[in-house]
Amino acid sequence: MYPSTLRSGFRCLLQELAVTRRLHLHAPRLQNQPRPLTQFTDDELMLKETVAKLAKEEIAPLVRKMEKNGRIDDGLLRKLFENGLMGIEVPAEYGGAGSNFMSTILTIEQIAKVDPAVCVPVDIQNTLLNALILKVGSEKQKREHLPRLTANCVGSFCLTEPESGSDAFALRTEARKEGAEYVINGTKMWISNSDVAGLFLVFANADPSAGYRGITTFLVDRDTAGLTVGKPEDKMGIKASGTCMVHFENVRIPENNLLGKFGHGYKYAAGFLNEGRIGIAAQMIGTAQGCLDATVPYTLQRKQFGQDIFSFQALQHQIAQMVTELECARLLVYNAARLVEAKKDVIKEAAMAKLVASETACRVTAKCIDVMGGVGFTTDFPQEKYFRDSKIGTIYEGTSNIQLSTIAKCIRKEYS
Ligand SMILES: Cc1cc2nc3c(=O)[nH]c(=O)nc-3n(C[C@H](O)[C@H](O)[C@H](O)COP(=O)(O)OP(=O)(O)OC[C@H]3O[C@@H](n4cnc5c(N)ncnc54)[C@H](O)[C@@H]3O)c2cc1C
Repeated sequence: MYPSTLRSGFRCLLQELAVTRRLHLHAPRLQNQPRPLTQFTDDELMLKETVAKLAKEEIAPLVRKMEKNGRIDDGLLRKLFENGLMGIEVPAEYGGAGSNFMSTILTIEQIAKVDPAVCVPVDIQNTLLNALILKVGSEKQKREHLPRLTANCVGSFCLTEPESGSDAFALRTEARKEGAEYVINGTKMWISNSDVAGLFLVFANADPSAGYRGITTFLVDRDTAGLTVGKPEDKMGIKASGTCMVHFENVRIPENNLLGKFGHGYKYAAGFLNEGRIGIAAQMIGTAQGCLDATVPYTLQRKQFGQDIFSFQALQHQIAQMVTELECARLLVYNAARLVEAKKDVIKEAAMAKLVASETACRVTAKCIDVMGGVGFTTDFPQEKYFRDSKIGTIYEGTSNIQLSTIAKCIRKEYS
């Protein structure tokens, strides 16, 4: 938790951009005109450039230190809040920037180019916590939680358990009703941000006799008696992003902390993870792009056999292949984001974007190490970190196998 801080010029800029965008949307020149996926509104473009600058100036100098310490720098986290990046789509009345989903995606991509680990709180806060409270929360819950989630309180999304990962709805955490309270018991595993989170969005079964239809969503404050956070896992990548177990032992919360409708938790998890997956896909295209940006200039400078190594056709083809595959992934991500904005169904598109972006990021970052030769295998150069950071993309918010199963389900439906 961080003390409430002054809003910076950037946060104000984001709010101004929201107004500008509304004006743009009403401008005749954009009406009914399909645009290329890589073309942005003026305010999206300005946001993209501003976040890129912030990442270069504020995040880049801290990357190695944060990786070594296994946590995101407190001052940096504060800056993410001050700059409005933890409440991008939240309307101004609740303290957010009132911007659009593409802005969230561009923000995540730009941050990942510099440090994929820093994307984790930004992604989860925007695509899961804020989104769920905004869309299914009561007015009282919005007024209570959104101003702090946009100002100084990191949130965690607690779905996975030791015995339920891909089979998420087999979760065992229970919420028992006692008078005007719910009593939560269970253990959540792999919970991102839980080392620093002030608010936990918890999926628990409030009616086990109804099976997965008993799964309900609750908001639990960190300081609630009975809630304890384990020590951070020692991971291969995104090391600065804290991932811990969260234990609930007779955690009593008022019944008003139930978020949305009783028994609708499985629907919310399935629905909101679609947008979450587009966020992870954005993290992965940013990771691959950051790695390529650090690699291609080296190939123009490094000389072997009397010429720069980019001159070898073998390397040119490998680089061209990587850049092309990354562009394919990026178009899937941007298209899925635009479909969300158009309020279209994105189950298949989100799964495809995450599958392709994460698998591409793994391939591109591994190949960049080859392109660098021996130095790519050292920690003096950033490729090895991008490579380690890319691996999580094929695992969290649904493994690649689960994305393929989701895509296959959609195909079956389309052909049945
Ligand atoms: C760093 C990190 C951060 C995370 N952050 C969060 C978080 O903030 N909140 C949260 O709730 N969770 C979080 N997770 C959990 C993550 O979503 C799960 O790890 C993921 O869904 C996979 O579950 P699992 O690890 O139990 O693997 P398992 O489900 O045990 O899968 C193991 C293997 O079996 C395969 N498999 C399983 N079922 C099928 C099937 N039906 N068909 C084909 N193959 C299958 C999988 O693809 C995988 O290859 C995080 C995980 C990590 C590693």
